[in-house]
Amino acid sequence: MNKFMTHGGKTARHIIQKALVQSRYELLEPEAKEFIETFGISATRHIVTSSRADAIQAATSIGYPVVLKIVSPDISHKTDVGGVKLGIKDDEGVRSAYDEIIRSVKKRQPDARIDGILVQEMATPSTEVIIGGLRDPQFGPAVMFGLGGIFVEIFKDVSFRIAPVEEYEALNMIHDIKGAKVFKGFRGREAADISALTQTIVRVSDIMVSIEEIKEIDLNPVLVYPKGLKAVDARIILCQL
Ligand code: ADP
Ligand code: MG
Repeated sequence: MNKFMTHGGKTARHIIQKALVQSRYELLEPEAKEFIETFGISATRHIVTSSRADAIQAATSIGYPVVLKIVSPDISHKTDVGGVKLGIKDDEGVRSAYDEIIRSVKKRQPDARIDGILVQEMATPSTEVIIGGLRDPQFGPAVMFGLGGIFVEIFKDVSFRIAPVEEYEALNMIHDIKGAKVFKGFRGREAADISALTQTIVRVSDIMVSIEEIKEIDLNPVLVYPKGLKAVDARIILCQL
């Protein structure tokens, strides 16, 4: 049986096939988030818009504060081109952020196609982690876990396991990183939801094992709370089988 039938379902299959038919090997952020949601990984609410008026309407329906981001098949690191505006508090803020993003992208990457502007829920700040999936040429599907931001970029504080990963292994991955103490809570910050974290690592492992069209997944960052977590950015790279 096609693995898509048992994992992720029709929506997941549709998202991947639509991209591949258009020869796109990287899902757009809204597509990647819809994809992971079909596997039970929660992500920020969002609406893709194509005018300022639409964006304001979307922000009102999502509720302030919101985040605006560029949606382009040619841009994978949105911040690098001025494509992310955080903590927008009102209609006027949406209007100016919308214009600033378009202006900045046109200036820094004039050839980039612009599919729209993503309006999304601004997640409450919390501990940021990275959960990733990749295909190692030698070992096959694998998963990665680490602390977000400078911890992964400068200290390379990450752990890896070959997929499939079960819950107890996911738990070991979390405890393996040097910064694992932050999940216990410190300076008035509550302990992180370790069980939501282990579940999410297992789900990323499931995706890597069951969906061969996926070459790489990068949930960066995922915000972890005392109860639950939320992916605020998601990147999925495909390969043609
Ligand atoms: P990039 O493509 O540059 O990685 P991101 O979507 O990851 O862009 O946004 C950059 C940073 O902004 C994230 O690392 C995160 O700290 C913050 N961020 C992005 N989206 C949200 C959101 N919806 N809520 C809260 N913070 C966010
Ligand atoms: Mg990111």
